[in-house]
Amino acid sequence: MTDTTTLSRPRRIERLVTGQRTSDGAGVKLTRVLSNDLHQRLDPFLMLDAFGSDQADDYIAGFPDHPHRGFETVTYMIAGRMRHRDSAGNEGLLENGGVQWMTAGRGVIHSELPEQEEGLMEGFQLWLNLPSTRKMQAPWYRDFKAPELPRYRSAQGAEVTVIAGQSQGTAGAVQREGTEPLYLDIHLPAGAQFEHLLPESHNAFIYVYRGQVQLDGQAVPIQKMAILANEPGCDGVRLQALQDSRLLLLAGRPLREPIVQYGPFVMNTKQEIYQAVTDYQSGQLTR
Ligand code: MN
Repeated sequence: MTDTTTLSRPRRIERLVTGQRTSDGAGVKLTRVLSNDLHQRLDPFLMLDAFGSDQADDYIAGFPDHPHRGFETVTYMIAGRMRHRDSAGNEGLLENGGVQWMTAGRGVIHSELPEQEEGLMEGFQLWLNLPSTRKMQAPWYRDFKAPELPRYRSAQGAEVTVIAGQSQGTAGAVQREGTEPLYLDIHLPAGAQFEHLLPESHNAFIYVYRGQVQLDGQAVPIQKMAILANEPGCDGVRLQALQDSRLLLLAGRPLREPIVQYGPFVMNTKQEIYQAVTDYQSGQLTR
């Protein structure tokens, strides 16, 4: 496959972000790469957590039953095994390179629990907002085993997994109107360059989880997120691997709607949040 992209004006880095160490669920240690303060800037993305540890104590308690309303969760397991069960009757085993896409819509209660007692657990969970018109839609769920995920190799040797959106003619596992997310996992050999077109208005970032890349003459080290500037006339992203590297590239169309979050509920108004809490407390969240 040849690389057909030729950018005339690649985006610059607006800022580098260091994730914050925290814990969630029943005490799972993780790094919150995209946190609340970036809701508006990275609209439609609400959160990105990176988890990775070979110490069982860091992950063994998992995420017991908890609710969600108003957005989608996308879990990408690099290594390890997690069992998902939810109130809509879906169950799936997430492992080694698989993706789980869950649209909480009007309400889901689910658990995400490790099915391993030792060894490495590594992956990411992304929260993607829903447009106001779809926040109360019926829940939706799909899981994709690693071999089911669309992939391609570029002429420069990039191995690209297309989780969502379109990339070099390859349709991703999931397409979404409204937010039009692009979600790529890119493995780059040292020295290789990678380019990708991005609509000017879409908010975009990369997160490097192996190695180190260079973008706009600036190094992006491991475990850093680079927010890509939205400047008029810029048509995409161009980066180069300084070492063998792995990174996520995310981009999406901003919804430009009010964002009101209360824990696992993300709605447009406080009133809708009160309703979500009331519905949850009265057992109506998933009805
Ligand atoms: Mn959850």
